[in-house]
Amino acid sequence: MLSTMQDDQLSLAHLLRHGTRMHADSVAATWTGSEARGATFAETGRRAAKLANALRGLGITGDERVGTFMWNNNEHLEAYLAIPAMGAVLHTLNIRLFPEQLVYVTNHAEDKVVLVDGTLVPLFAKQLPQMTTVEHVVVANGDPASVDAPDGVRVHSYEELLAAQPDTFDWPEIDERSAAAMCYTSGTTGDPKGVVYSHRSIWLHSMQICMSDTMRLSDADKALVIVPMFHAMSWGMPYAAFMVGASMVLPDRFLQPEPIAAVLAAEKPTFAGAVPTIWQGLLQHLDANPQDISHLREVVVGGSAAPPAMMHAFEERYGVPVLHAWGMTETSPMGSVARPPSWASGETAWRYRYSQGRFPASVKARLIADDGSEVPWDGESVGELEVAGPWIAGSYYGDADPDKFHDGWLRTGDVGRITPDGYLTLTDRAKDVIKSGGEWISSVDLENEVMAHPAVAEAAVIGVPDEKWDERPLVAVVVREGERVDAGALREFLRGRVAKWQLPEHWTFVDEVPKTSVGKFDKKRLRAAHADGALDIDHF
Ligand code: AMP
Repeated sequence: MLSTMQDDQLSLAHLLRHGTRMHADSVAATWTGSEARGATFAETGRRAAKLANALRGLGITGDERVGTFMWNNNEHLEAYLAIPAMGAVLHTLNIRLFPEQLVYVTNHAEDKVVLVDGTLVPLFAKQLPQMTTVEHVVVANGDPASVDAPDGVRVHSYEELLAAQPDTFDWPEIDERSAAAMCYTSGTTGDPKGVVYSHRSIWLHSMQICMSDTMRLSDADKALVIVPMFHAMSWGMPYAAFMVGASMVLPDRFLQPEPIAAVLAAEKPTFAGAVPTIWQGLLQHLDANPQDISHLREVVVGGSAAPPAMMHAFEERYGVPVLHAWGMTETSPMGSVARPPSWASGETAWRYRYSQGRFPASVKARLIADDGSEVPWDGESVGELEVAGPWIAGSYYGDADPDKFHDGWLRTGDVGRITPDGYLTLTDRAKDVIKSGGEWISSVDLENEVMAHPAVAEAAVIGVPDEKWDERPLVAVVVREGERVDAGALREFLRGRVAKWQLPEHWTFVDEVPKTSVGKFDKKRLRAAHADGALDIDHF
């Protein structure tokens, strides 16, 4: 028996119409370095219509890919809305990819038009001659004459293109399963993989972002959207905000601690999301230049493990709760969120909050052991996390990669344990696990413990070869500005905090932990530096 319900399609064309109308007065504003330039959602909708008309004029008539090479700003938001809503596919290009990877993903996705931010033209234009499918480049917030285009590529000004267009567009009916947007993974090995989100997956994910067990976004919020719109769809925040009328502040290229603090002071957002390195940097800045940030009802941190010491610092020194979440480009990206159960308080609640969190109803999860068997959710047994659900990738675009999928489940490459009530704690990436004398040492646990030392700004742990134990941990430490600490003191600090046999005997002090294009510790580069003998190491 089939239901009697309407088979209405969950489409971003409807999301655009809805946000523009129901939340006409909500505002999206871009930080310019000294102030914010804003547009209401109504105005954003009109400009999105103009952009859609302009793209039609450039030959985007079906599901062609339109790339964006942009910061988080109003123009990027217009592209987020217009491109999928007109039936085309938004391809957000990571501005920090290596040049050859940028060329690879643009050609692989067959981008036909690319919208480029004026400040990023020098980065982009150099690769343009090798981008074989690009026919049009549209420069926003800059001078199109700055692009030295190869034959066959036409360059336009974003504002001039829009100025000539009507501000309404006949948004089409769209099959909810069709492609809306794509984002390539930022893996450090091999070619990036294309994840293609559907209208349906984005719609459902947006609803989840607003639910009370996750980010609780609502029309009472002003969200500071720090996570790049080119990385995992900015954690889905732009679409979720448009759905419920949450105003947005978009920081453009001003991502250093000082300008972020300035945006906080001027715009007083109620919510924000970013990776730990951004929060860690802001914390150091605030400690040296105190400022009231209690207008933030909460901030979300994910992308890498949130150090508990940092969570405590924000809450206890600044009155801002930090919500820890886990996800991947392949999971849209929200996979789990660490809201403690409502009955938990004190230390118990904190323990839940340190975890990577609980899975929402739409995300199915399981842990798989090396021998392929399922690992119980007993809070202790460890396995590789596999997930499935309506906003989880089931394949990559034009790339079978059977290793990443297992009977329809996504293999995350993350290793951890799950409590009986469904809270995930990740101990490592599968490739970062340290195997010492047949036992596993969690690099994440060690990092968190070292980062709990007040003089430590950052700590990254890798396994290094060891004749007796196979591998032992090496800790790379960045000391906070103005502080002093040595390896002996740090090792003493760890005593009692980690099992004795896990105490690292190799330490190195670095100015900065190498980071990937999306701000995660780049352990591959750290390992290479170690293998090349480039690190100055204290041994015990
Ligand atoms: P990406 O697709 O670039 O966002 O990377 C996804 C990967 O980031 C995951 O597979 C995890 O290894 C890591 N990650 C994301 N969130 C967290 C978190 N809260 N704790 C630990 N690792 C995380």
